[in-house]
Amino acid sequence: MQKLYEGKAKILYQSEDPEVLLTYFKDDATAFNAQKKGQIKGKGEVNCTITAAIYRWLEKQGISTHFIEQIAPNQMTVKSVKIIPLEVVVRNIASGSLCKQTGLEEGTLLSEPLVDFYLKDDALGDPLLTSERIRILNLASQEQVNKITEIAKKVNRCLQDFFLCCDITLVDFKLEFGLNNQGQILLADEISPDTCRLWDMRQKDSKNRVLDKDRFRKDLGDVEAAYYEVRKRVLSRVDSL
Ligand code: UDP
Repeated sequence: MQKLYEGKAKILYQSEDPEVLLTYFKDDATAFNAQKKGQIKGKGEVNCTITAAIYRWLEKQGISTHFIEQIAPNQMTVKSVKIIPLEVVVRNIASGSLCKQTGLEEGTLLSEPLVDFYLKDDALGDPLLTSERIRILNLASQEQVNKITEIAKKVNRCLQDFFLCCDITLVDFKLEFGLNNQGQILLADEISPDTCRLWDMRQKDSKNRVLDKDRFRKDLGDVEAAYYEVRKRVLSRVDSL
């Protein structure tokens, strides 16, 4: 199959159907704009399975995604879309770059969900954008930005409920969106411990509670175990629905 694009965590292949692409999830892990590199054994399968389960569930909540089908533990078919070069981050609790840039203390509950837009451009270090910058750079129309914000907030409400039932606090997460041939905005990319901050409600200790890529970023150890734990809880939540 022809490789269309290889990113840090996934490879995208063309399929026989021009409307359908195949996504292969890799075990490779990167952090700090790929300055730190490593492997998380089994991550490809875990992230593919978590993303598939969450996308199926989000579709049931009325959110349109690019997901079609999981065809192997680390492979899924998706609808072909043109990715909008924005990283849309939704935050419920202050962590990561928000703390570094604003001085907010890690763990501060935000008075309302914050939706931040970043330019999807590794060479520039994914800089934070403003509405004006999005307009001037022609990245998306104001109408598209409004729609994306609305969808991102709805995904946040759905995921907060979903993870609450897994005894997991959804701290923040990153979404990407794409446009299909009809110009419809579809949720794309992945939703996994690589792209979310997830804190275990069963653990009070600030290191032990981390169930996401911060274990890799901060060398907290037991990275694989954390990812497997999230998969276990997500699948048992889906099974119970
Ligand atoms: N995130 C991501 N990809 C990126 C940047 C961020 O998936 O290129 C996720 C990250 O895992 C976290 C959220 O977006 O769940 C917010 O990340 P933040 O802006 O705090 O940046 P970081 O601290 O990861 O550099």
